[in-house]
Amino acid sequence: MNTKYRFPTLVIHAGEEKESPYGAVTTPIFQTSTFAFKNTEEVKEFQMGDASKYLYTRYGNPTLKVVEEKMATLEGGEAALVVSSGMAAVSTIALTLVSGGEEIISTEPVYGGTYRLFKDAFPRLGIKVHLVQADNIDHAKSLLNGNTRLLFCETPTNPNLKIADIRKFVSIAKERKIPVVVDNTFATPYNQNPLSLGADFVIHSGTKYLGGHSDLVAGVIIGPKNLIVKARETMKLFGGCIDPFGSFLLQRGLKTLAIRVERHNQNGLKVAEFLSGHSQVNRVFYPGLSTHPQHTLAESQMRGFGGMVCFEVKGGLESATKVIDSLKIFINATSLGGVESLASLPVLTSHFGFEETDLERADVTPGMIRLSCGIEDGDDLVEDLKQGLDRL
Ligand SMILES: *Cc1c(COP(=O)(O)O)cnc(C)c1O
Repeated sequence: MNTKYRFPTLVIHAGEEKESPYGAVTTPIFQTSTFAFKNTEEVKEFQMGDASKYLYTRYGNPTLKVVEEKMATLEGGEAALVVSSGMAAVSTIALTLVSGGEEIISTEPVYGGTYRLFKDAFPRLGIKVHLVQADNIDHAKSLLNGNTRLLFCETPTNPNLKIADIRKFVSIAKERKIPVVVDNTFATPYNQNPLSLGADFVIHSGTKYLGGHSDLVAGVIIGPKNLIVKARETMKLFGGCIDPFGSFLLQRGLKTLAIRVERHNQNGLKVAEFLSGHSQVNRVFYPGLSTHPQHTLAESQMRGFGGMVCFEVKGGLESATKVIDSLKIFINATSLGGVESLASLPVLTSHFGFEETDLERADVTPGMIRLSCGIEDGDDLVEDLKQGLDRL
């Protein structure tokens, strides 16, 4: 695929096989666990690295390959690996780059699953994870040492849309040749390309914007070819492979990524602007607002600001509950990035059971509502929020 084409063309055509069986226009679902060889010579060819041959679906499958090539193109990377979930992407890349006795530095806040992996599971394997505030580059620098093997960065963050300066994290890591992994789930490759800012790997929860229809669970890792080969070895052994049907749904969703995210961006901004002007709203978190404390930084590394909006109502959890329970279009559900708008209360979902001090550090309060603005009509979304807030 000619990578000179623009993004909306690439999402549709990149990675697609030019010669599908029977001339199929769409990607066939190779729903098979194993592949037949014509003779032993072919087995040898596969083992020697012939990429046109397949052995077993945990190792690779033509339906998966289409997503991998598409995502590598969209993020501007050499190669990609599709896995069973966003968490499989995080654990697979970390376990590829880091061993027991070594260390990771990660920005915080990070996605709840990533936080638990870093704080509970990795220490049991002898991997130490240091957390630093997304905007505290000096703290990250002070923690770098001879055992650091990975700098992990999530931006924008969940739930309150803080921005980590990717270029700055890259610059301190490059001095010591430490790879930088960026979780680009919230931004999508339509709005942000961390590799072009110097990062080594991008990971995604494909469950969110990439799939875009709240009907699949998947993850993707994009990076240099030689290390994606290593990540595939990790995935083969730890078993976090995706099935062909899930992968088919992901590549189908990806084809509309450009027009979906364009609308998510419009709706996110419209909703954030409305909320900023409402008397019952204390604070609004949206990197596209000029009042966001890191708006200039966001503009320097993002082309659009997405559909995730977080806001705090006056009156704490009681008011937030009243508002969320009265919404007619926004569905009260966790997750994000689908065509349908969702709303959730961080203190009862992503940050449930957190200690008071941890909530304070993450700046998550009981009156906060997190919105994933879908691709419905933006005025309908605003009117829905208005009728909810007007009850306070
Ligand atoms: C959802 C999410 C993950 C985990 O993805 P799953 O597909 O649920 O495993 C990781 N990072 C971010 C930013 C997410 O939103």
